[in-house]
Amino acid sequence: MAASKSLLDSLKKPEPTNFRMTDFRRDLHLRHKREEHAKKERLKALQESKYVPKYAITVDTSRARSNNDVLRMCIKELGFKEYPFGRKDNCCDVHWHACHFEDNPEVYGGKVNKFPGMGEICSKMTLFRCLDIMRDLFPTDYDFYPRTWYLPAQFHEFSCEIRKMHERRVRPKPTFIVKPDTGAQGDGIYLLREPNEYSSFNGKCHVAQEYMSNVYLIDKFKFDLRIYVLLKSLEPLEFYICQEGLARFSTLPYENPTNKNIHESFMHLTNYSLNKRSSTFNRSERDDEGSKRTVTSVLRRIAMNGHDSTKVWRSIERIVCKTIVAIVPEMKVEYQAAIPPGKTGASCFQVLGFDILLLHNLKPVLLEINASPSLSLDSEQEIAPGVFEYVHSPKDEEIKFPLIRDTLLHVVPLEKLKYYRKRKKRRMLRKLKACTSHKMKRPEPLVKQRTSIVIIKADESDEEKREVDVTQQMSEMHMDVDSSTVSQGESTGRDAISDDEQESNMKSDIEIEEEADNYYENKLKESCLKQLYPAIYDEECERYRILERVAGLFIYFLGIRGSLRIGPTGFRTFARKCRLNRKGMTNAAVDIMYIDLQRRWDHMNPERTSGKKSNGLCYQGFLDACMEIARRKFYAPTKIEMLENLVDHCEISINLKDNDLANNLPRLHFRRLGLQYRQGSMYAMPRRVIDQMAEETTIEDLLTAHEKKLRQVSKEDIEAFLRKNRRMTYLPSSTTAILGSSKSANSE
Ligand code: ADP
Repeated sequence: MAASKSLLDSLKKPEPTNFRMTDFRRDLHLRHKREEHAKKERLKALQESKYVPKYAITVDTSRARSNNDVLRMCIKELGFKEYPFGRKDNCCDVHWHACHFEDNPEVYGGKVNKFPGMGEICSKMTLFRCLDIMRDLFPTDYDFYPRTWYLPAQFHEFSCEIRKMHERRVRPKPTFIVKPDTGAQGDGIYLLREPNEYSSFNGKCHVAQEYMSNVYLIDKFKFDLRIYVLLKSLEPLEFYICQEGLARFSTLPYENPTNKNIHESFMHLTNYSLNKRSSTFNRSERDDEGSKRTVTSVLRRIAMNGHDSTKVWRSIERIVCKTIVAIVPEMKVEYQAAIPPGKTGASCFQVLGFDILLLHNLKPVLLEINASPSLSLDSEQEIAPGVFEYVHSPKDEEIKFPLIRDTLLHVVPLEKLKYYRKRKKRRMLRKLKACTSHKMKRPEPLVKQRTSIVIIKADESDEEKREVDVTQQMSEMHMDVDSSTVSQGESTGRDAISDDEQESNMKSDIEIEEEADNYYENKLKESCLKQLYPAIYDEECERYRILERVAGLFIYFLGIRGSLRIGPTGFRTFARKCRLNRKGMTNAAVDIMYIDLQRRWDHMNPERTSGKKSNGLCYQGFLDACMEIARRKFYAPTKIEMLENLVDHCEISINLKDNDLANNLPRLHFRRLGLQYRQGSMYAMPRRVIDQMAEETTIEDLLTAHEKKLRQVSKEDIEAFLRKNRRMTYLPSSTTAILGSSKSANSE
């Protein structure tokens, strides 16, 4: 009775004033978090206590987030060791970040799957500015992207252009697409036809582009292609294209833009993230059906429609090459800021996603580069109206799994891989031998015994049964051996052991050595990644790489290590050391140019410069300065020649000052021949041959530098020799084979 009374009392008790339902929820949430943390710590301790062989390839996936699924599958397939919580005792071979290089600032070695500053370089403004600079120098070669205006800075030019088009009565009526500078997944994109329809929210920067209305349609739908590119290294430049990609389709049949349909995003935008919400989104898992298809199926369809799909693919490859060459100078500037020369740091690689639209005449057009393309293997499915569920998408897996697997194979140290495999094989062989000798000691070998029984059966004309039985016994024996091998700590590479390895158990030691040597080379040959540069487009792209030399000058004069901007003193030093005063540039003219350009570039990038205006002139501003100086003081018929003259002059001036004439002269020879010179043994070019180049102005210098007599050789001879030599030294044996195989595949 007393108990029930106290219960009643407690029920009647007024609720404490500070008690709220949210407190209870917060407690629950905190407890859950604490438990999660404890679980993570236990797993971490378990992982750290495990022995990892020195030669195992290790991958840190602690920052991989949405990339985890596909990454884990690849790690398992390749037999690598995963570190889901990072590694404290040592650096991993690969650090996989979902978004940026800076995701984990503690990395001091190995390879990171992101280049520093790549997010900003791939933002629409920086990317199209890089391309605009190249279009200015090579107008006919850089015509593969829509005309672009940078808003709000260029709003006046943009409005004038629209007005002019109206005056000329251009038909169909011109339409423009406005995109936020750092937007993604179609966010904030809209089409407009009049300048007053542009609205700049919170002073955000946008790009406005010509809307490409005459696009190639399949089944009446607009689509774009997501092409994956592996940028393996910056110095020396090396990149690959993935031979498979995704085609993303819009979900409303396409019509040319009119005032009526201009707001139909399911018709004009092809983003998957947008169209998956459409009621007409087709989730077919067939290659050539649905709103998401493979690039090869689209190319097949183009070929079926009577067009040359190989030519289309070649044009896409060229776009990739030219675009990468355009962004490399910016990347080098960012790289030296994040990892200054001399500082130990990680090296980088990156998988990029190129979005490409096909015009009606099958000309590819670049829309954007994605620095972190989605590597998710799931797609959303509506299970009830408004209720979505993530389901595994085999189509995504078909494309993204080989892409990441081959990327890992390309970037991890090959020697370590081979060594790992050899050791594993040798150990397996030893165990197999021990096992078989042990079995041989048995009175009646199992295989023999069972075979003879079967043969008796075979006499009863049961041929099929005999075969099945024999194979079964053989495989039983192998399983026996395998399980004993694995049980003794071979778990790391368990999944990499394939059937062919079991066969090779019987091979001799030497054969296994050879096999291990060839195994990964073959894997790389069969890779879905095809080397574009330097293997195929080396010569074609060499002349576009002039801006890297400008970036080199910029970095040289930056002054402060790790900086991204050149200050007024640095700029003055540039003018003085490069002896621009001899060309008539006074100190006052240099200072005025600096202030003028700094203001202009701060105005162009209000979002990025706010609060750090005093930091100086960015690389693109410096490039503008070089173009201006070249135009004024190094006049030549074309812009590229003017710039080349300036850069040559600056490089000579710097090197002369350092008394480095002998080193500098061969470079000049290369440039005069239109070839790129690389230091070190890249070309393995005998010095004597370089010295023999017939260039009157420098022969004397060479004579003084080397004090030797030269035999006269024609320029053509040397050029032919250099080209031949360069190709040979450039292509490692494996890539030659890849090149050969890919070429033959394409011609089929
Ligand atoms: P986001 O980064 O937001 O995805 P994109 O530049 O990829 O922005 O553009 C989104 C979509 O808009 C593209 O997939 C494409 O279908 C369409 N699009 C973008 N630019 C153009 C253009 N200049 N002409 C025609 N369509 C375009």
